[in-house]
Amino acid sequence: MTNSRLARELAAALDNGEVILLYQPQIDLATGRTVAVEALCRWLHPELGLLLPYAFIPVAEESRLIGRIGEFVIVESLAAAASWRDAGLDVGIAINVSPSQLTSSSFGPRLADAVHESRLDPTTVTLEITETVAIENLFGATSNLDPLRAAGMVVAIDDYGAGYSSLSRLDDLGAGELKIDRTLLQSESPTNATHLTDVVAYAHERSIRVVAEGVERPEHLDRARQLGCDRAQGFLLGRPASQREISKSLLAERV
Ligand code: C2E
Ligand code: MG
Ligand code: MG
Repeated sequence: MTNSRLARELAAALDNGEVILLYQPQIDLATGRTVAVEALCRWLHPELGLLLPYAFIPVAEESRLIGRIGEFVIVESLAAAASWRDAGLDVGIAINVSPSQLTSSSFGPRLADAVHESRLDPTTVTLEITETVAIENLFGATSNLDPLRAAGMVVAIDDYGAGYSSLSRLDDLGAGELKIDRTLLQSESPTNATHLTDVVAYAHERSIRVVAEGVERPEHLDRARQLGCDRAQGFLLGRPASQREISKSLLAERV
């Protein structure tokens, strides 16, 4: 399918509810409890089946539909977080912010309003940003992020170690969280292991919380623990699931 057709279909899909959010648990390694969930979008395409973000987020970025996806994610994920809060199931919410959203002047004020309206505790809202974004337009990014951080929201550097990685980004963006990419977490190389130890120390010296991504096997969980990561996320601990499924598992966890 051509990108322009995909973009047209995506516009319609956003109108008729084919784009949905799933939520993946993040576990506090000290308590074993689900302390946050990351919102991950999916497109339930009528012919192509379930599409993962890599199949349509790039198209959305090119066609400006990313603004609509971003708005959908804000509305939907904050509503889910508010419903969990109302049910007494306090859990943080992490939202992925795409490059163009981050540098659009309307993004910061819109998110600040939405969080305010939801009456969620802003400190439970995390904005996940990939490093490349931050590098490309640091000024645009910080002008959006500074007020959100001032309101209490947490900025996370996503996929650390997946590509060009620089810990100075943590300082540049005032990050409060570092997410270690699964390729780095799962790496068997001793050099990477040493690097990871240093990374966790660097983050903790600055009171930055560390989340291990891609925990697929018990040895990955052991590694995350040995490294002193604060939280872990991955298929071993919980796959992305619907709001309903997450509600059920949070209820089961909290009895
Ligand atoms: P990400 O933010 O790093 O999200 C984590 C990705 O890793 C998710 O893929 C998740 O399903 C996958 N994952 C989680 N645990 C494991 C594991 O143990 N093993 C493996 N192999 N994979 C695991 P997903 O949902 O396909 O999302 C891919 C990327 O798409 C995300 O990476 C994020 O950058 C982007 N994305 C997802 N949802 C949104 C969204 O709503 N808006 C924007 N702008 N980007 C999104
Ligand atoms: Mg993410
Ligand atoms: Mg990631």
